[in-house]
Amino acid sequence: MIDPTGGDVLVLNVGSSSIKCAVFDSSLREVLRGGVEGLGPRARLQLGAARRDVDAPDHRGGLAALLEALEAQGVALNRLRVVGHRVVHGGPGLTQPAHITPQVRAEIARCTPLAPLHNPHHLAAMDALATLVPDLPQVACFDTGFHATNPQVALRYALPADLAEAGLRRYGFHGLSYGGVVRRLTALAGALPGRVLAFHLGNGASACAIRDGQSVATTMGYSPTDGLTMGTRSGSIDPNVVLRLAEERGIDGARHLLTHGAGLAGLSGGVSDMRALEARDDPASRFAIDHFIYWAQRHAGSLIAAMQGLDAVVFTGGIGENSAMIRAGILDGLTWAGARYDPDRNRRNAPRLHAKDAEVSVWVLPAEEEYMIAQAARDLLATV
Ligand code: ADP
Repeated sequence: MIDPTGGDVLVLNVGSSSIKCAVFDSSLREVLRGGVEGLGPRARLQLGAARRDVDAPDHRGGLAALLEALEAQGVALNRLRVVGHRVVHGGPGLTQPAHITPQVRAEIARCTPLAPLHNPHHLAAMDALATLVPDLPQVACFDTGFHATNPQVALRYALPADLAEAGLRRYGFHGLSYGGVVRRLTALAGALPGRVLAFHLGNGASACAIRDGQSVATTMGYSPTDGLTMGTRSGSIDPNVVLRLAEERGIDGARHLLTHGAGLAGLSGGVSDMRALEARDDPASRFAIDHFIYWAQRHAGSLIAAMQGLDAVVFTGGIGENSAMIRAGILDGLTWAGARYDPDRNRRNAPRLHAKDAEVSVWVLPAEEEYMIAQAARDLLATV
């Protein structure tokens, strides 16, 4: 039986071959973080300081190993209050955190064609958890939800209405991270700046125009392949290039190239990792970095237009939080919009990069998707 007075919140981020987890106490302080990678015959578990190989051929096996390891490190399963899942795609209907009822589960399943590489794995984990810990309430938080406030002109492709109704429209992603940016920036700046240009730069990368705390435009669209140059995804590309690739390589070949063989990896000859690229000194690696920066600036111009101006720039994600070179490159192309930074603070990854009296403030903030999920799951449970 689950103890209703139990306080811990478990957050799960389930991918095709990995399960990442974080545990928060009742005050939403993070107490433990880890996961299982390489689901299959030789999966590897890491939780706090513990590391070991585990037999986890599938999501159920991975979760079972993870739950056992959590118990071994003092997180009693019957003290868990709720589990919050990151769900990549909620489609047009699921924009707010939701209890995973049979209806919500069915809706997430209906979104599978929109996120074939993600939603089936989220469902597998939800189903496995329901059998492993049947009394534990489960909540889904959607990466698409934050962008539901985009105006129709931003959401629609120039396609007939029946296709938009069938789901062929823009959604946007990294919404949990952008929600975290709003929360953290409000606390740090004292008040939320009106027009915020936020960059979430990791292996997947996007940017978002946030006006008065709401997303009004973002670079990812129908799928997380659109927009900025990414680790292995192409970013924006002419649809006729996609059609030609599909003709020449088949649909699966085209999808694989655009998702796993393009972006920084495609440009550099195989290196998708920004830190590794920065350490190299060959022309292709330098060009890949230049491409990343140039297209971040180009998209930034579009997002600034969508907000009719700029009051703050925020960087988050692995690259955004750690790469002084990339931040400097992007910001050097935004001086026309008033963004200026202190190079010393930039080198130190300081939270505040701008001079005190600057008109446009510039920030480096940690991505806190897990915290946002924990908070939403706990708050949703409190309302029942
Ligand atoms: P994901 O999208 O998979 O969550 P992350 O947000 O962890 O990815 O970001 C991973 C990216 O951050 C990689 O390209 C990695 O090289 C880059 N990165 C991490 N630390 C640094 C650093 N110190 N300098 C440059 N890039 C970094």
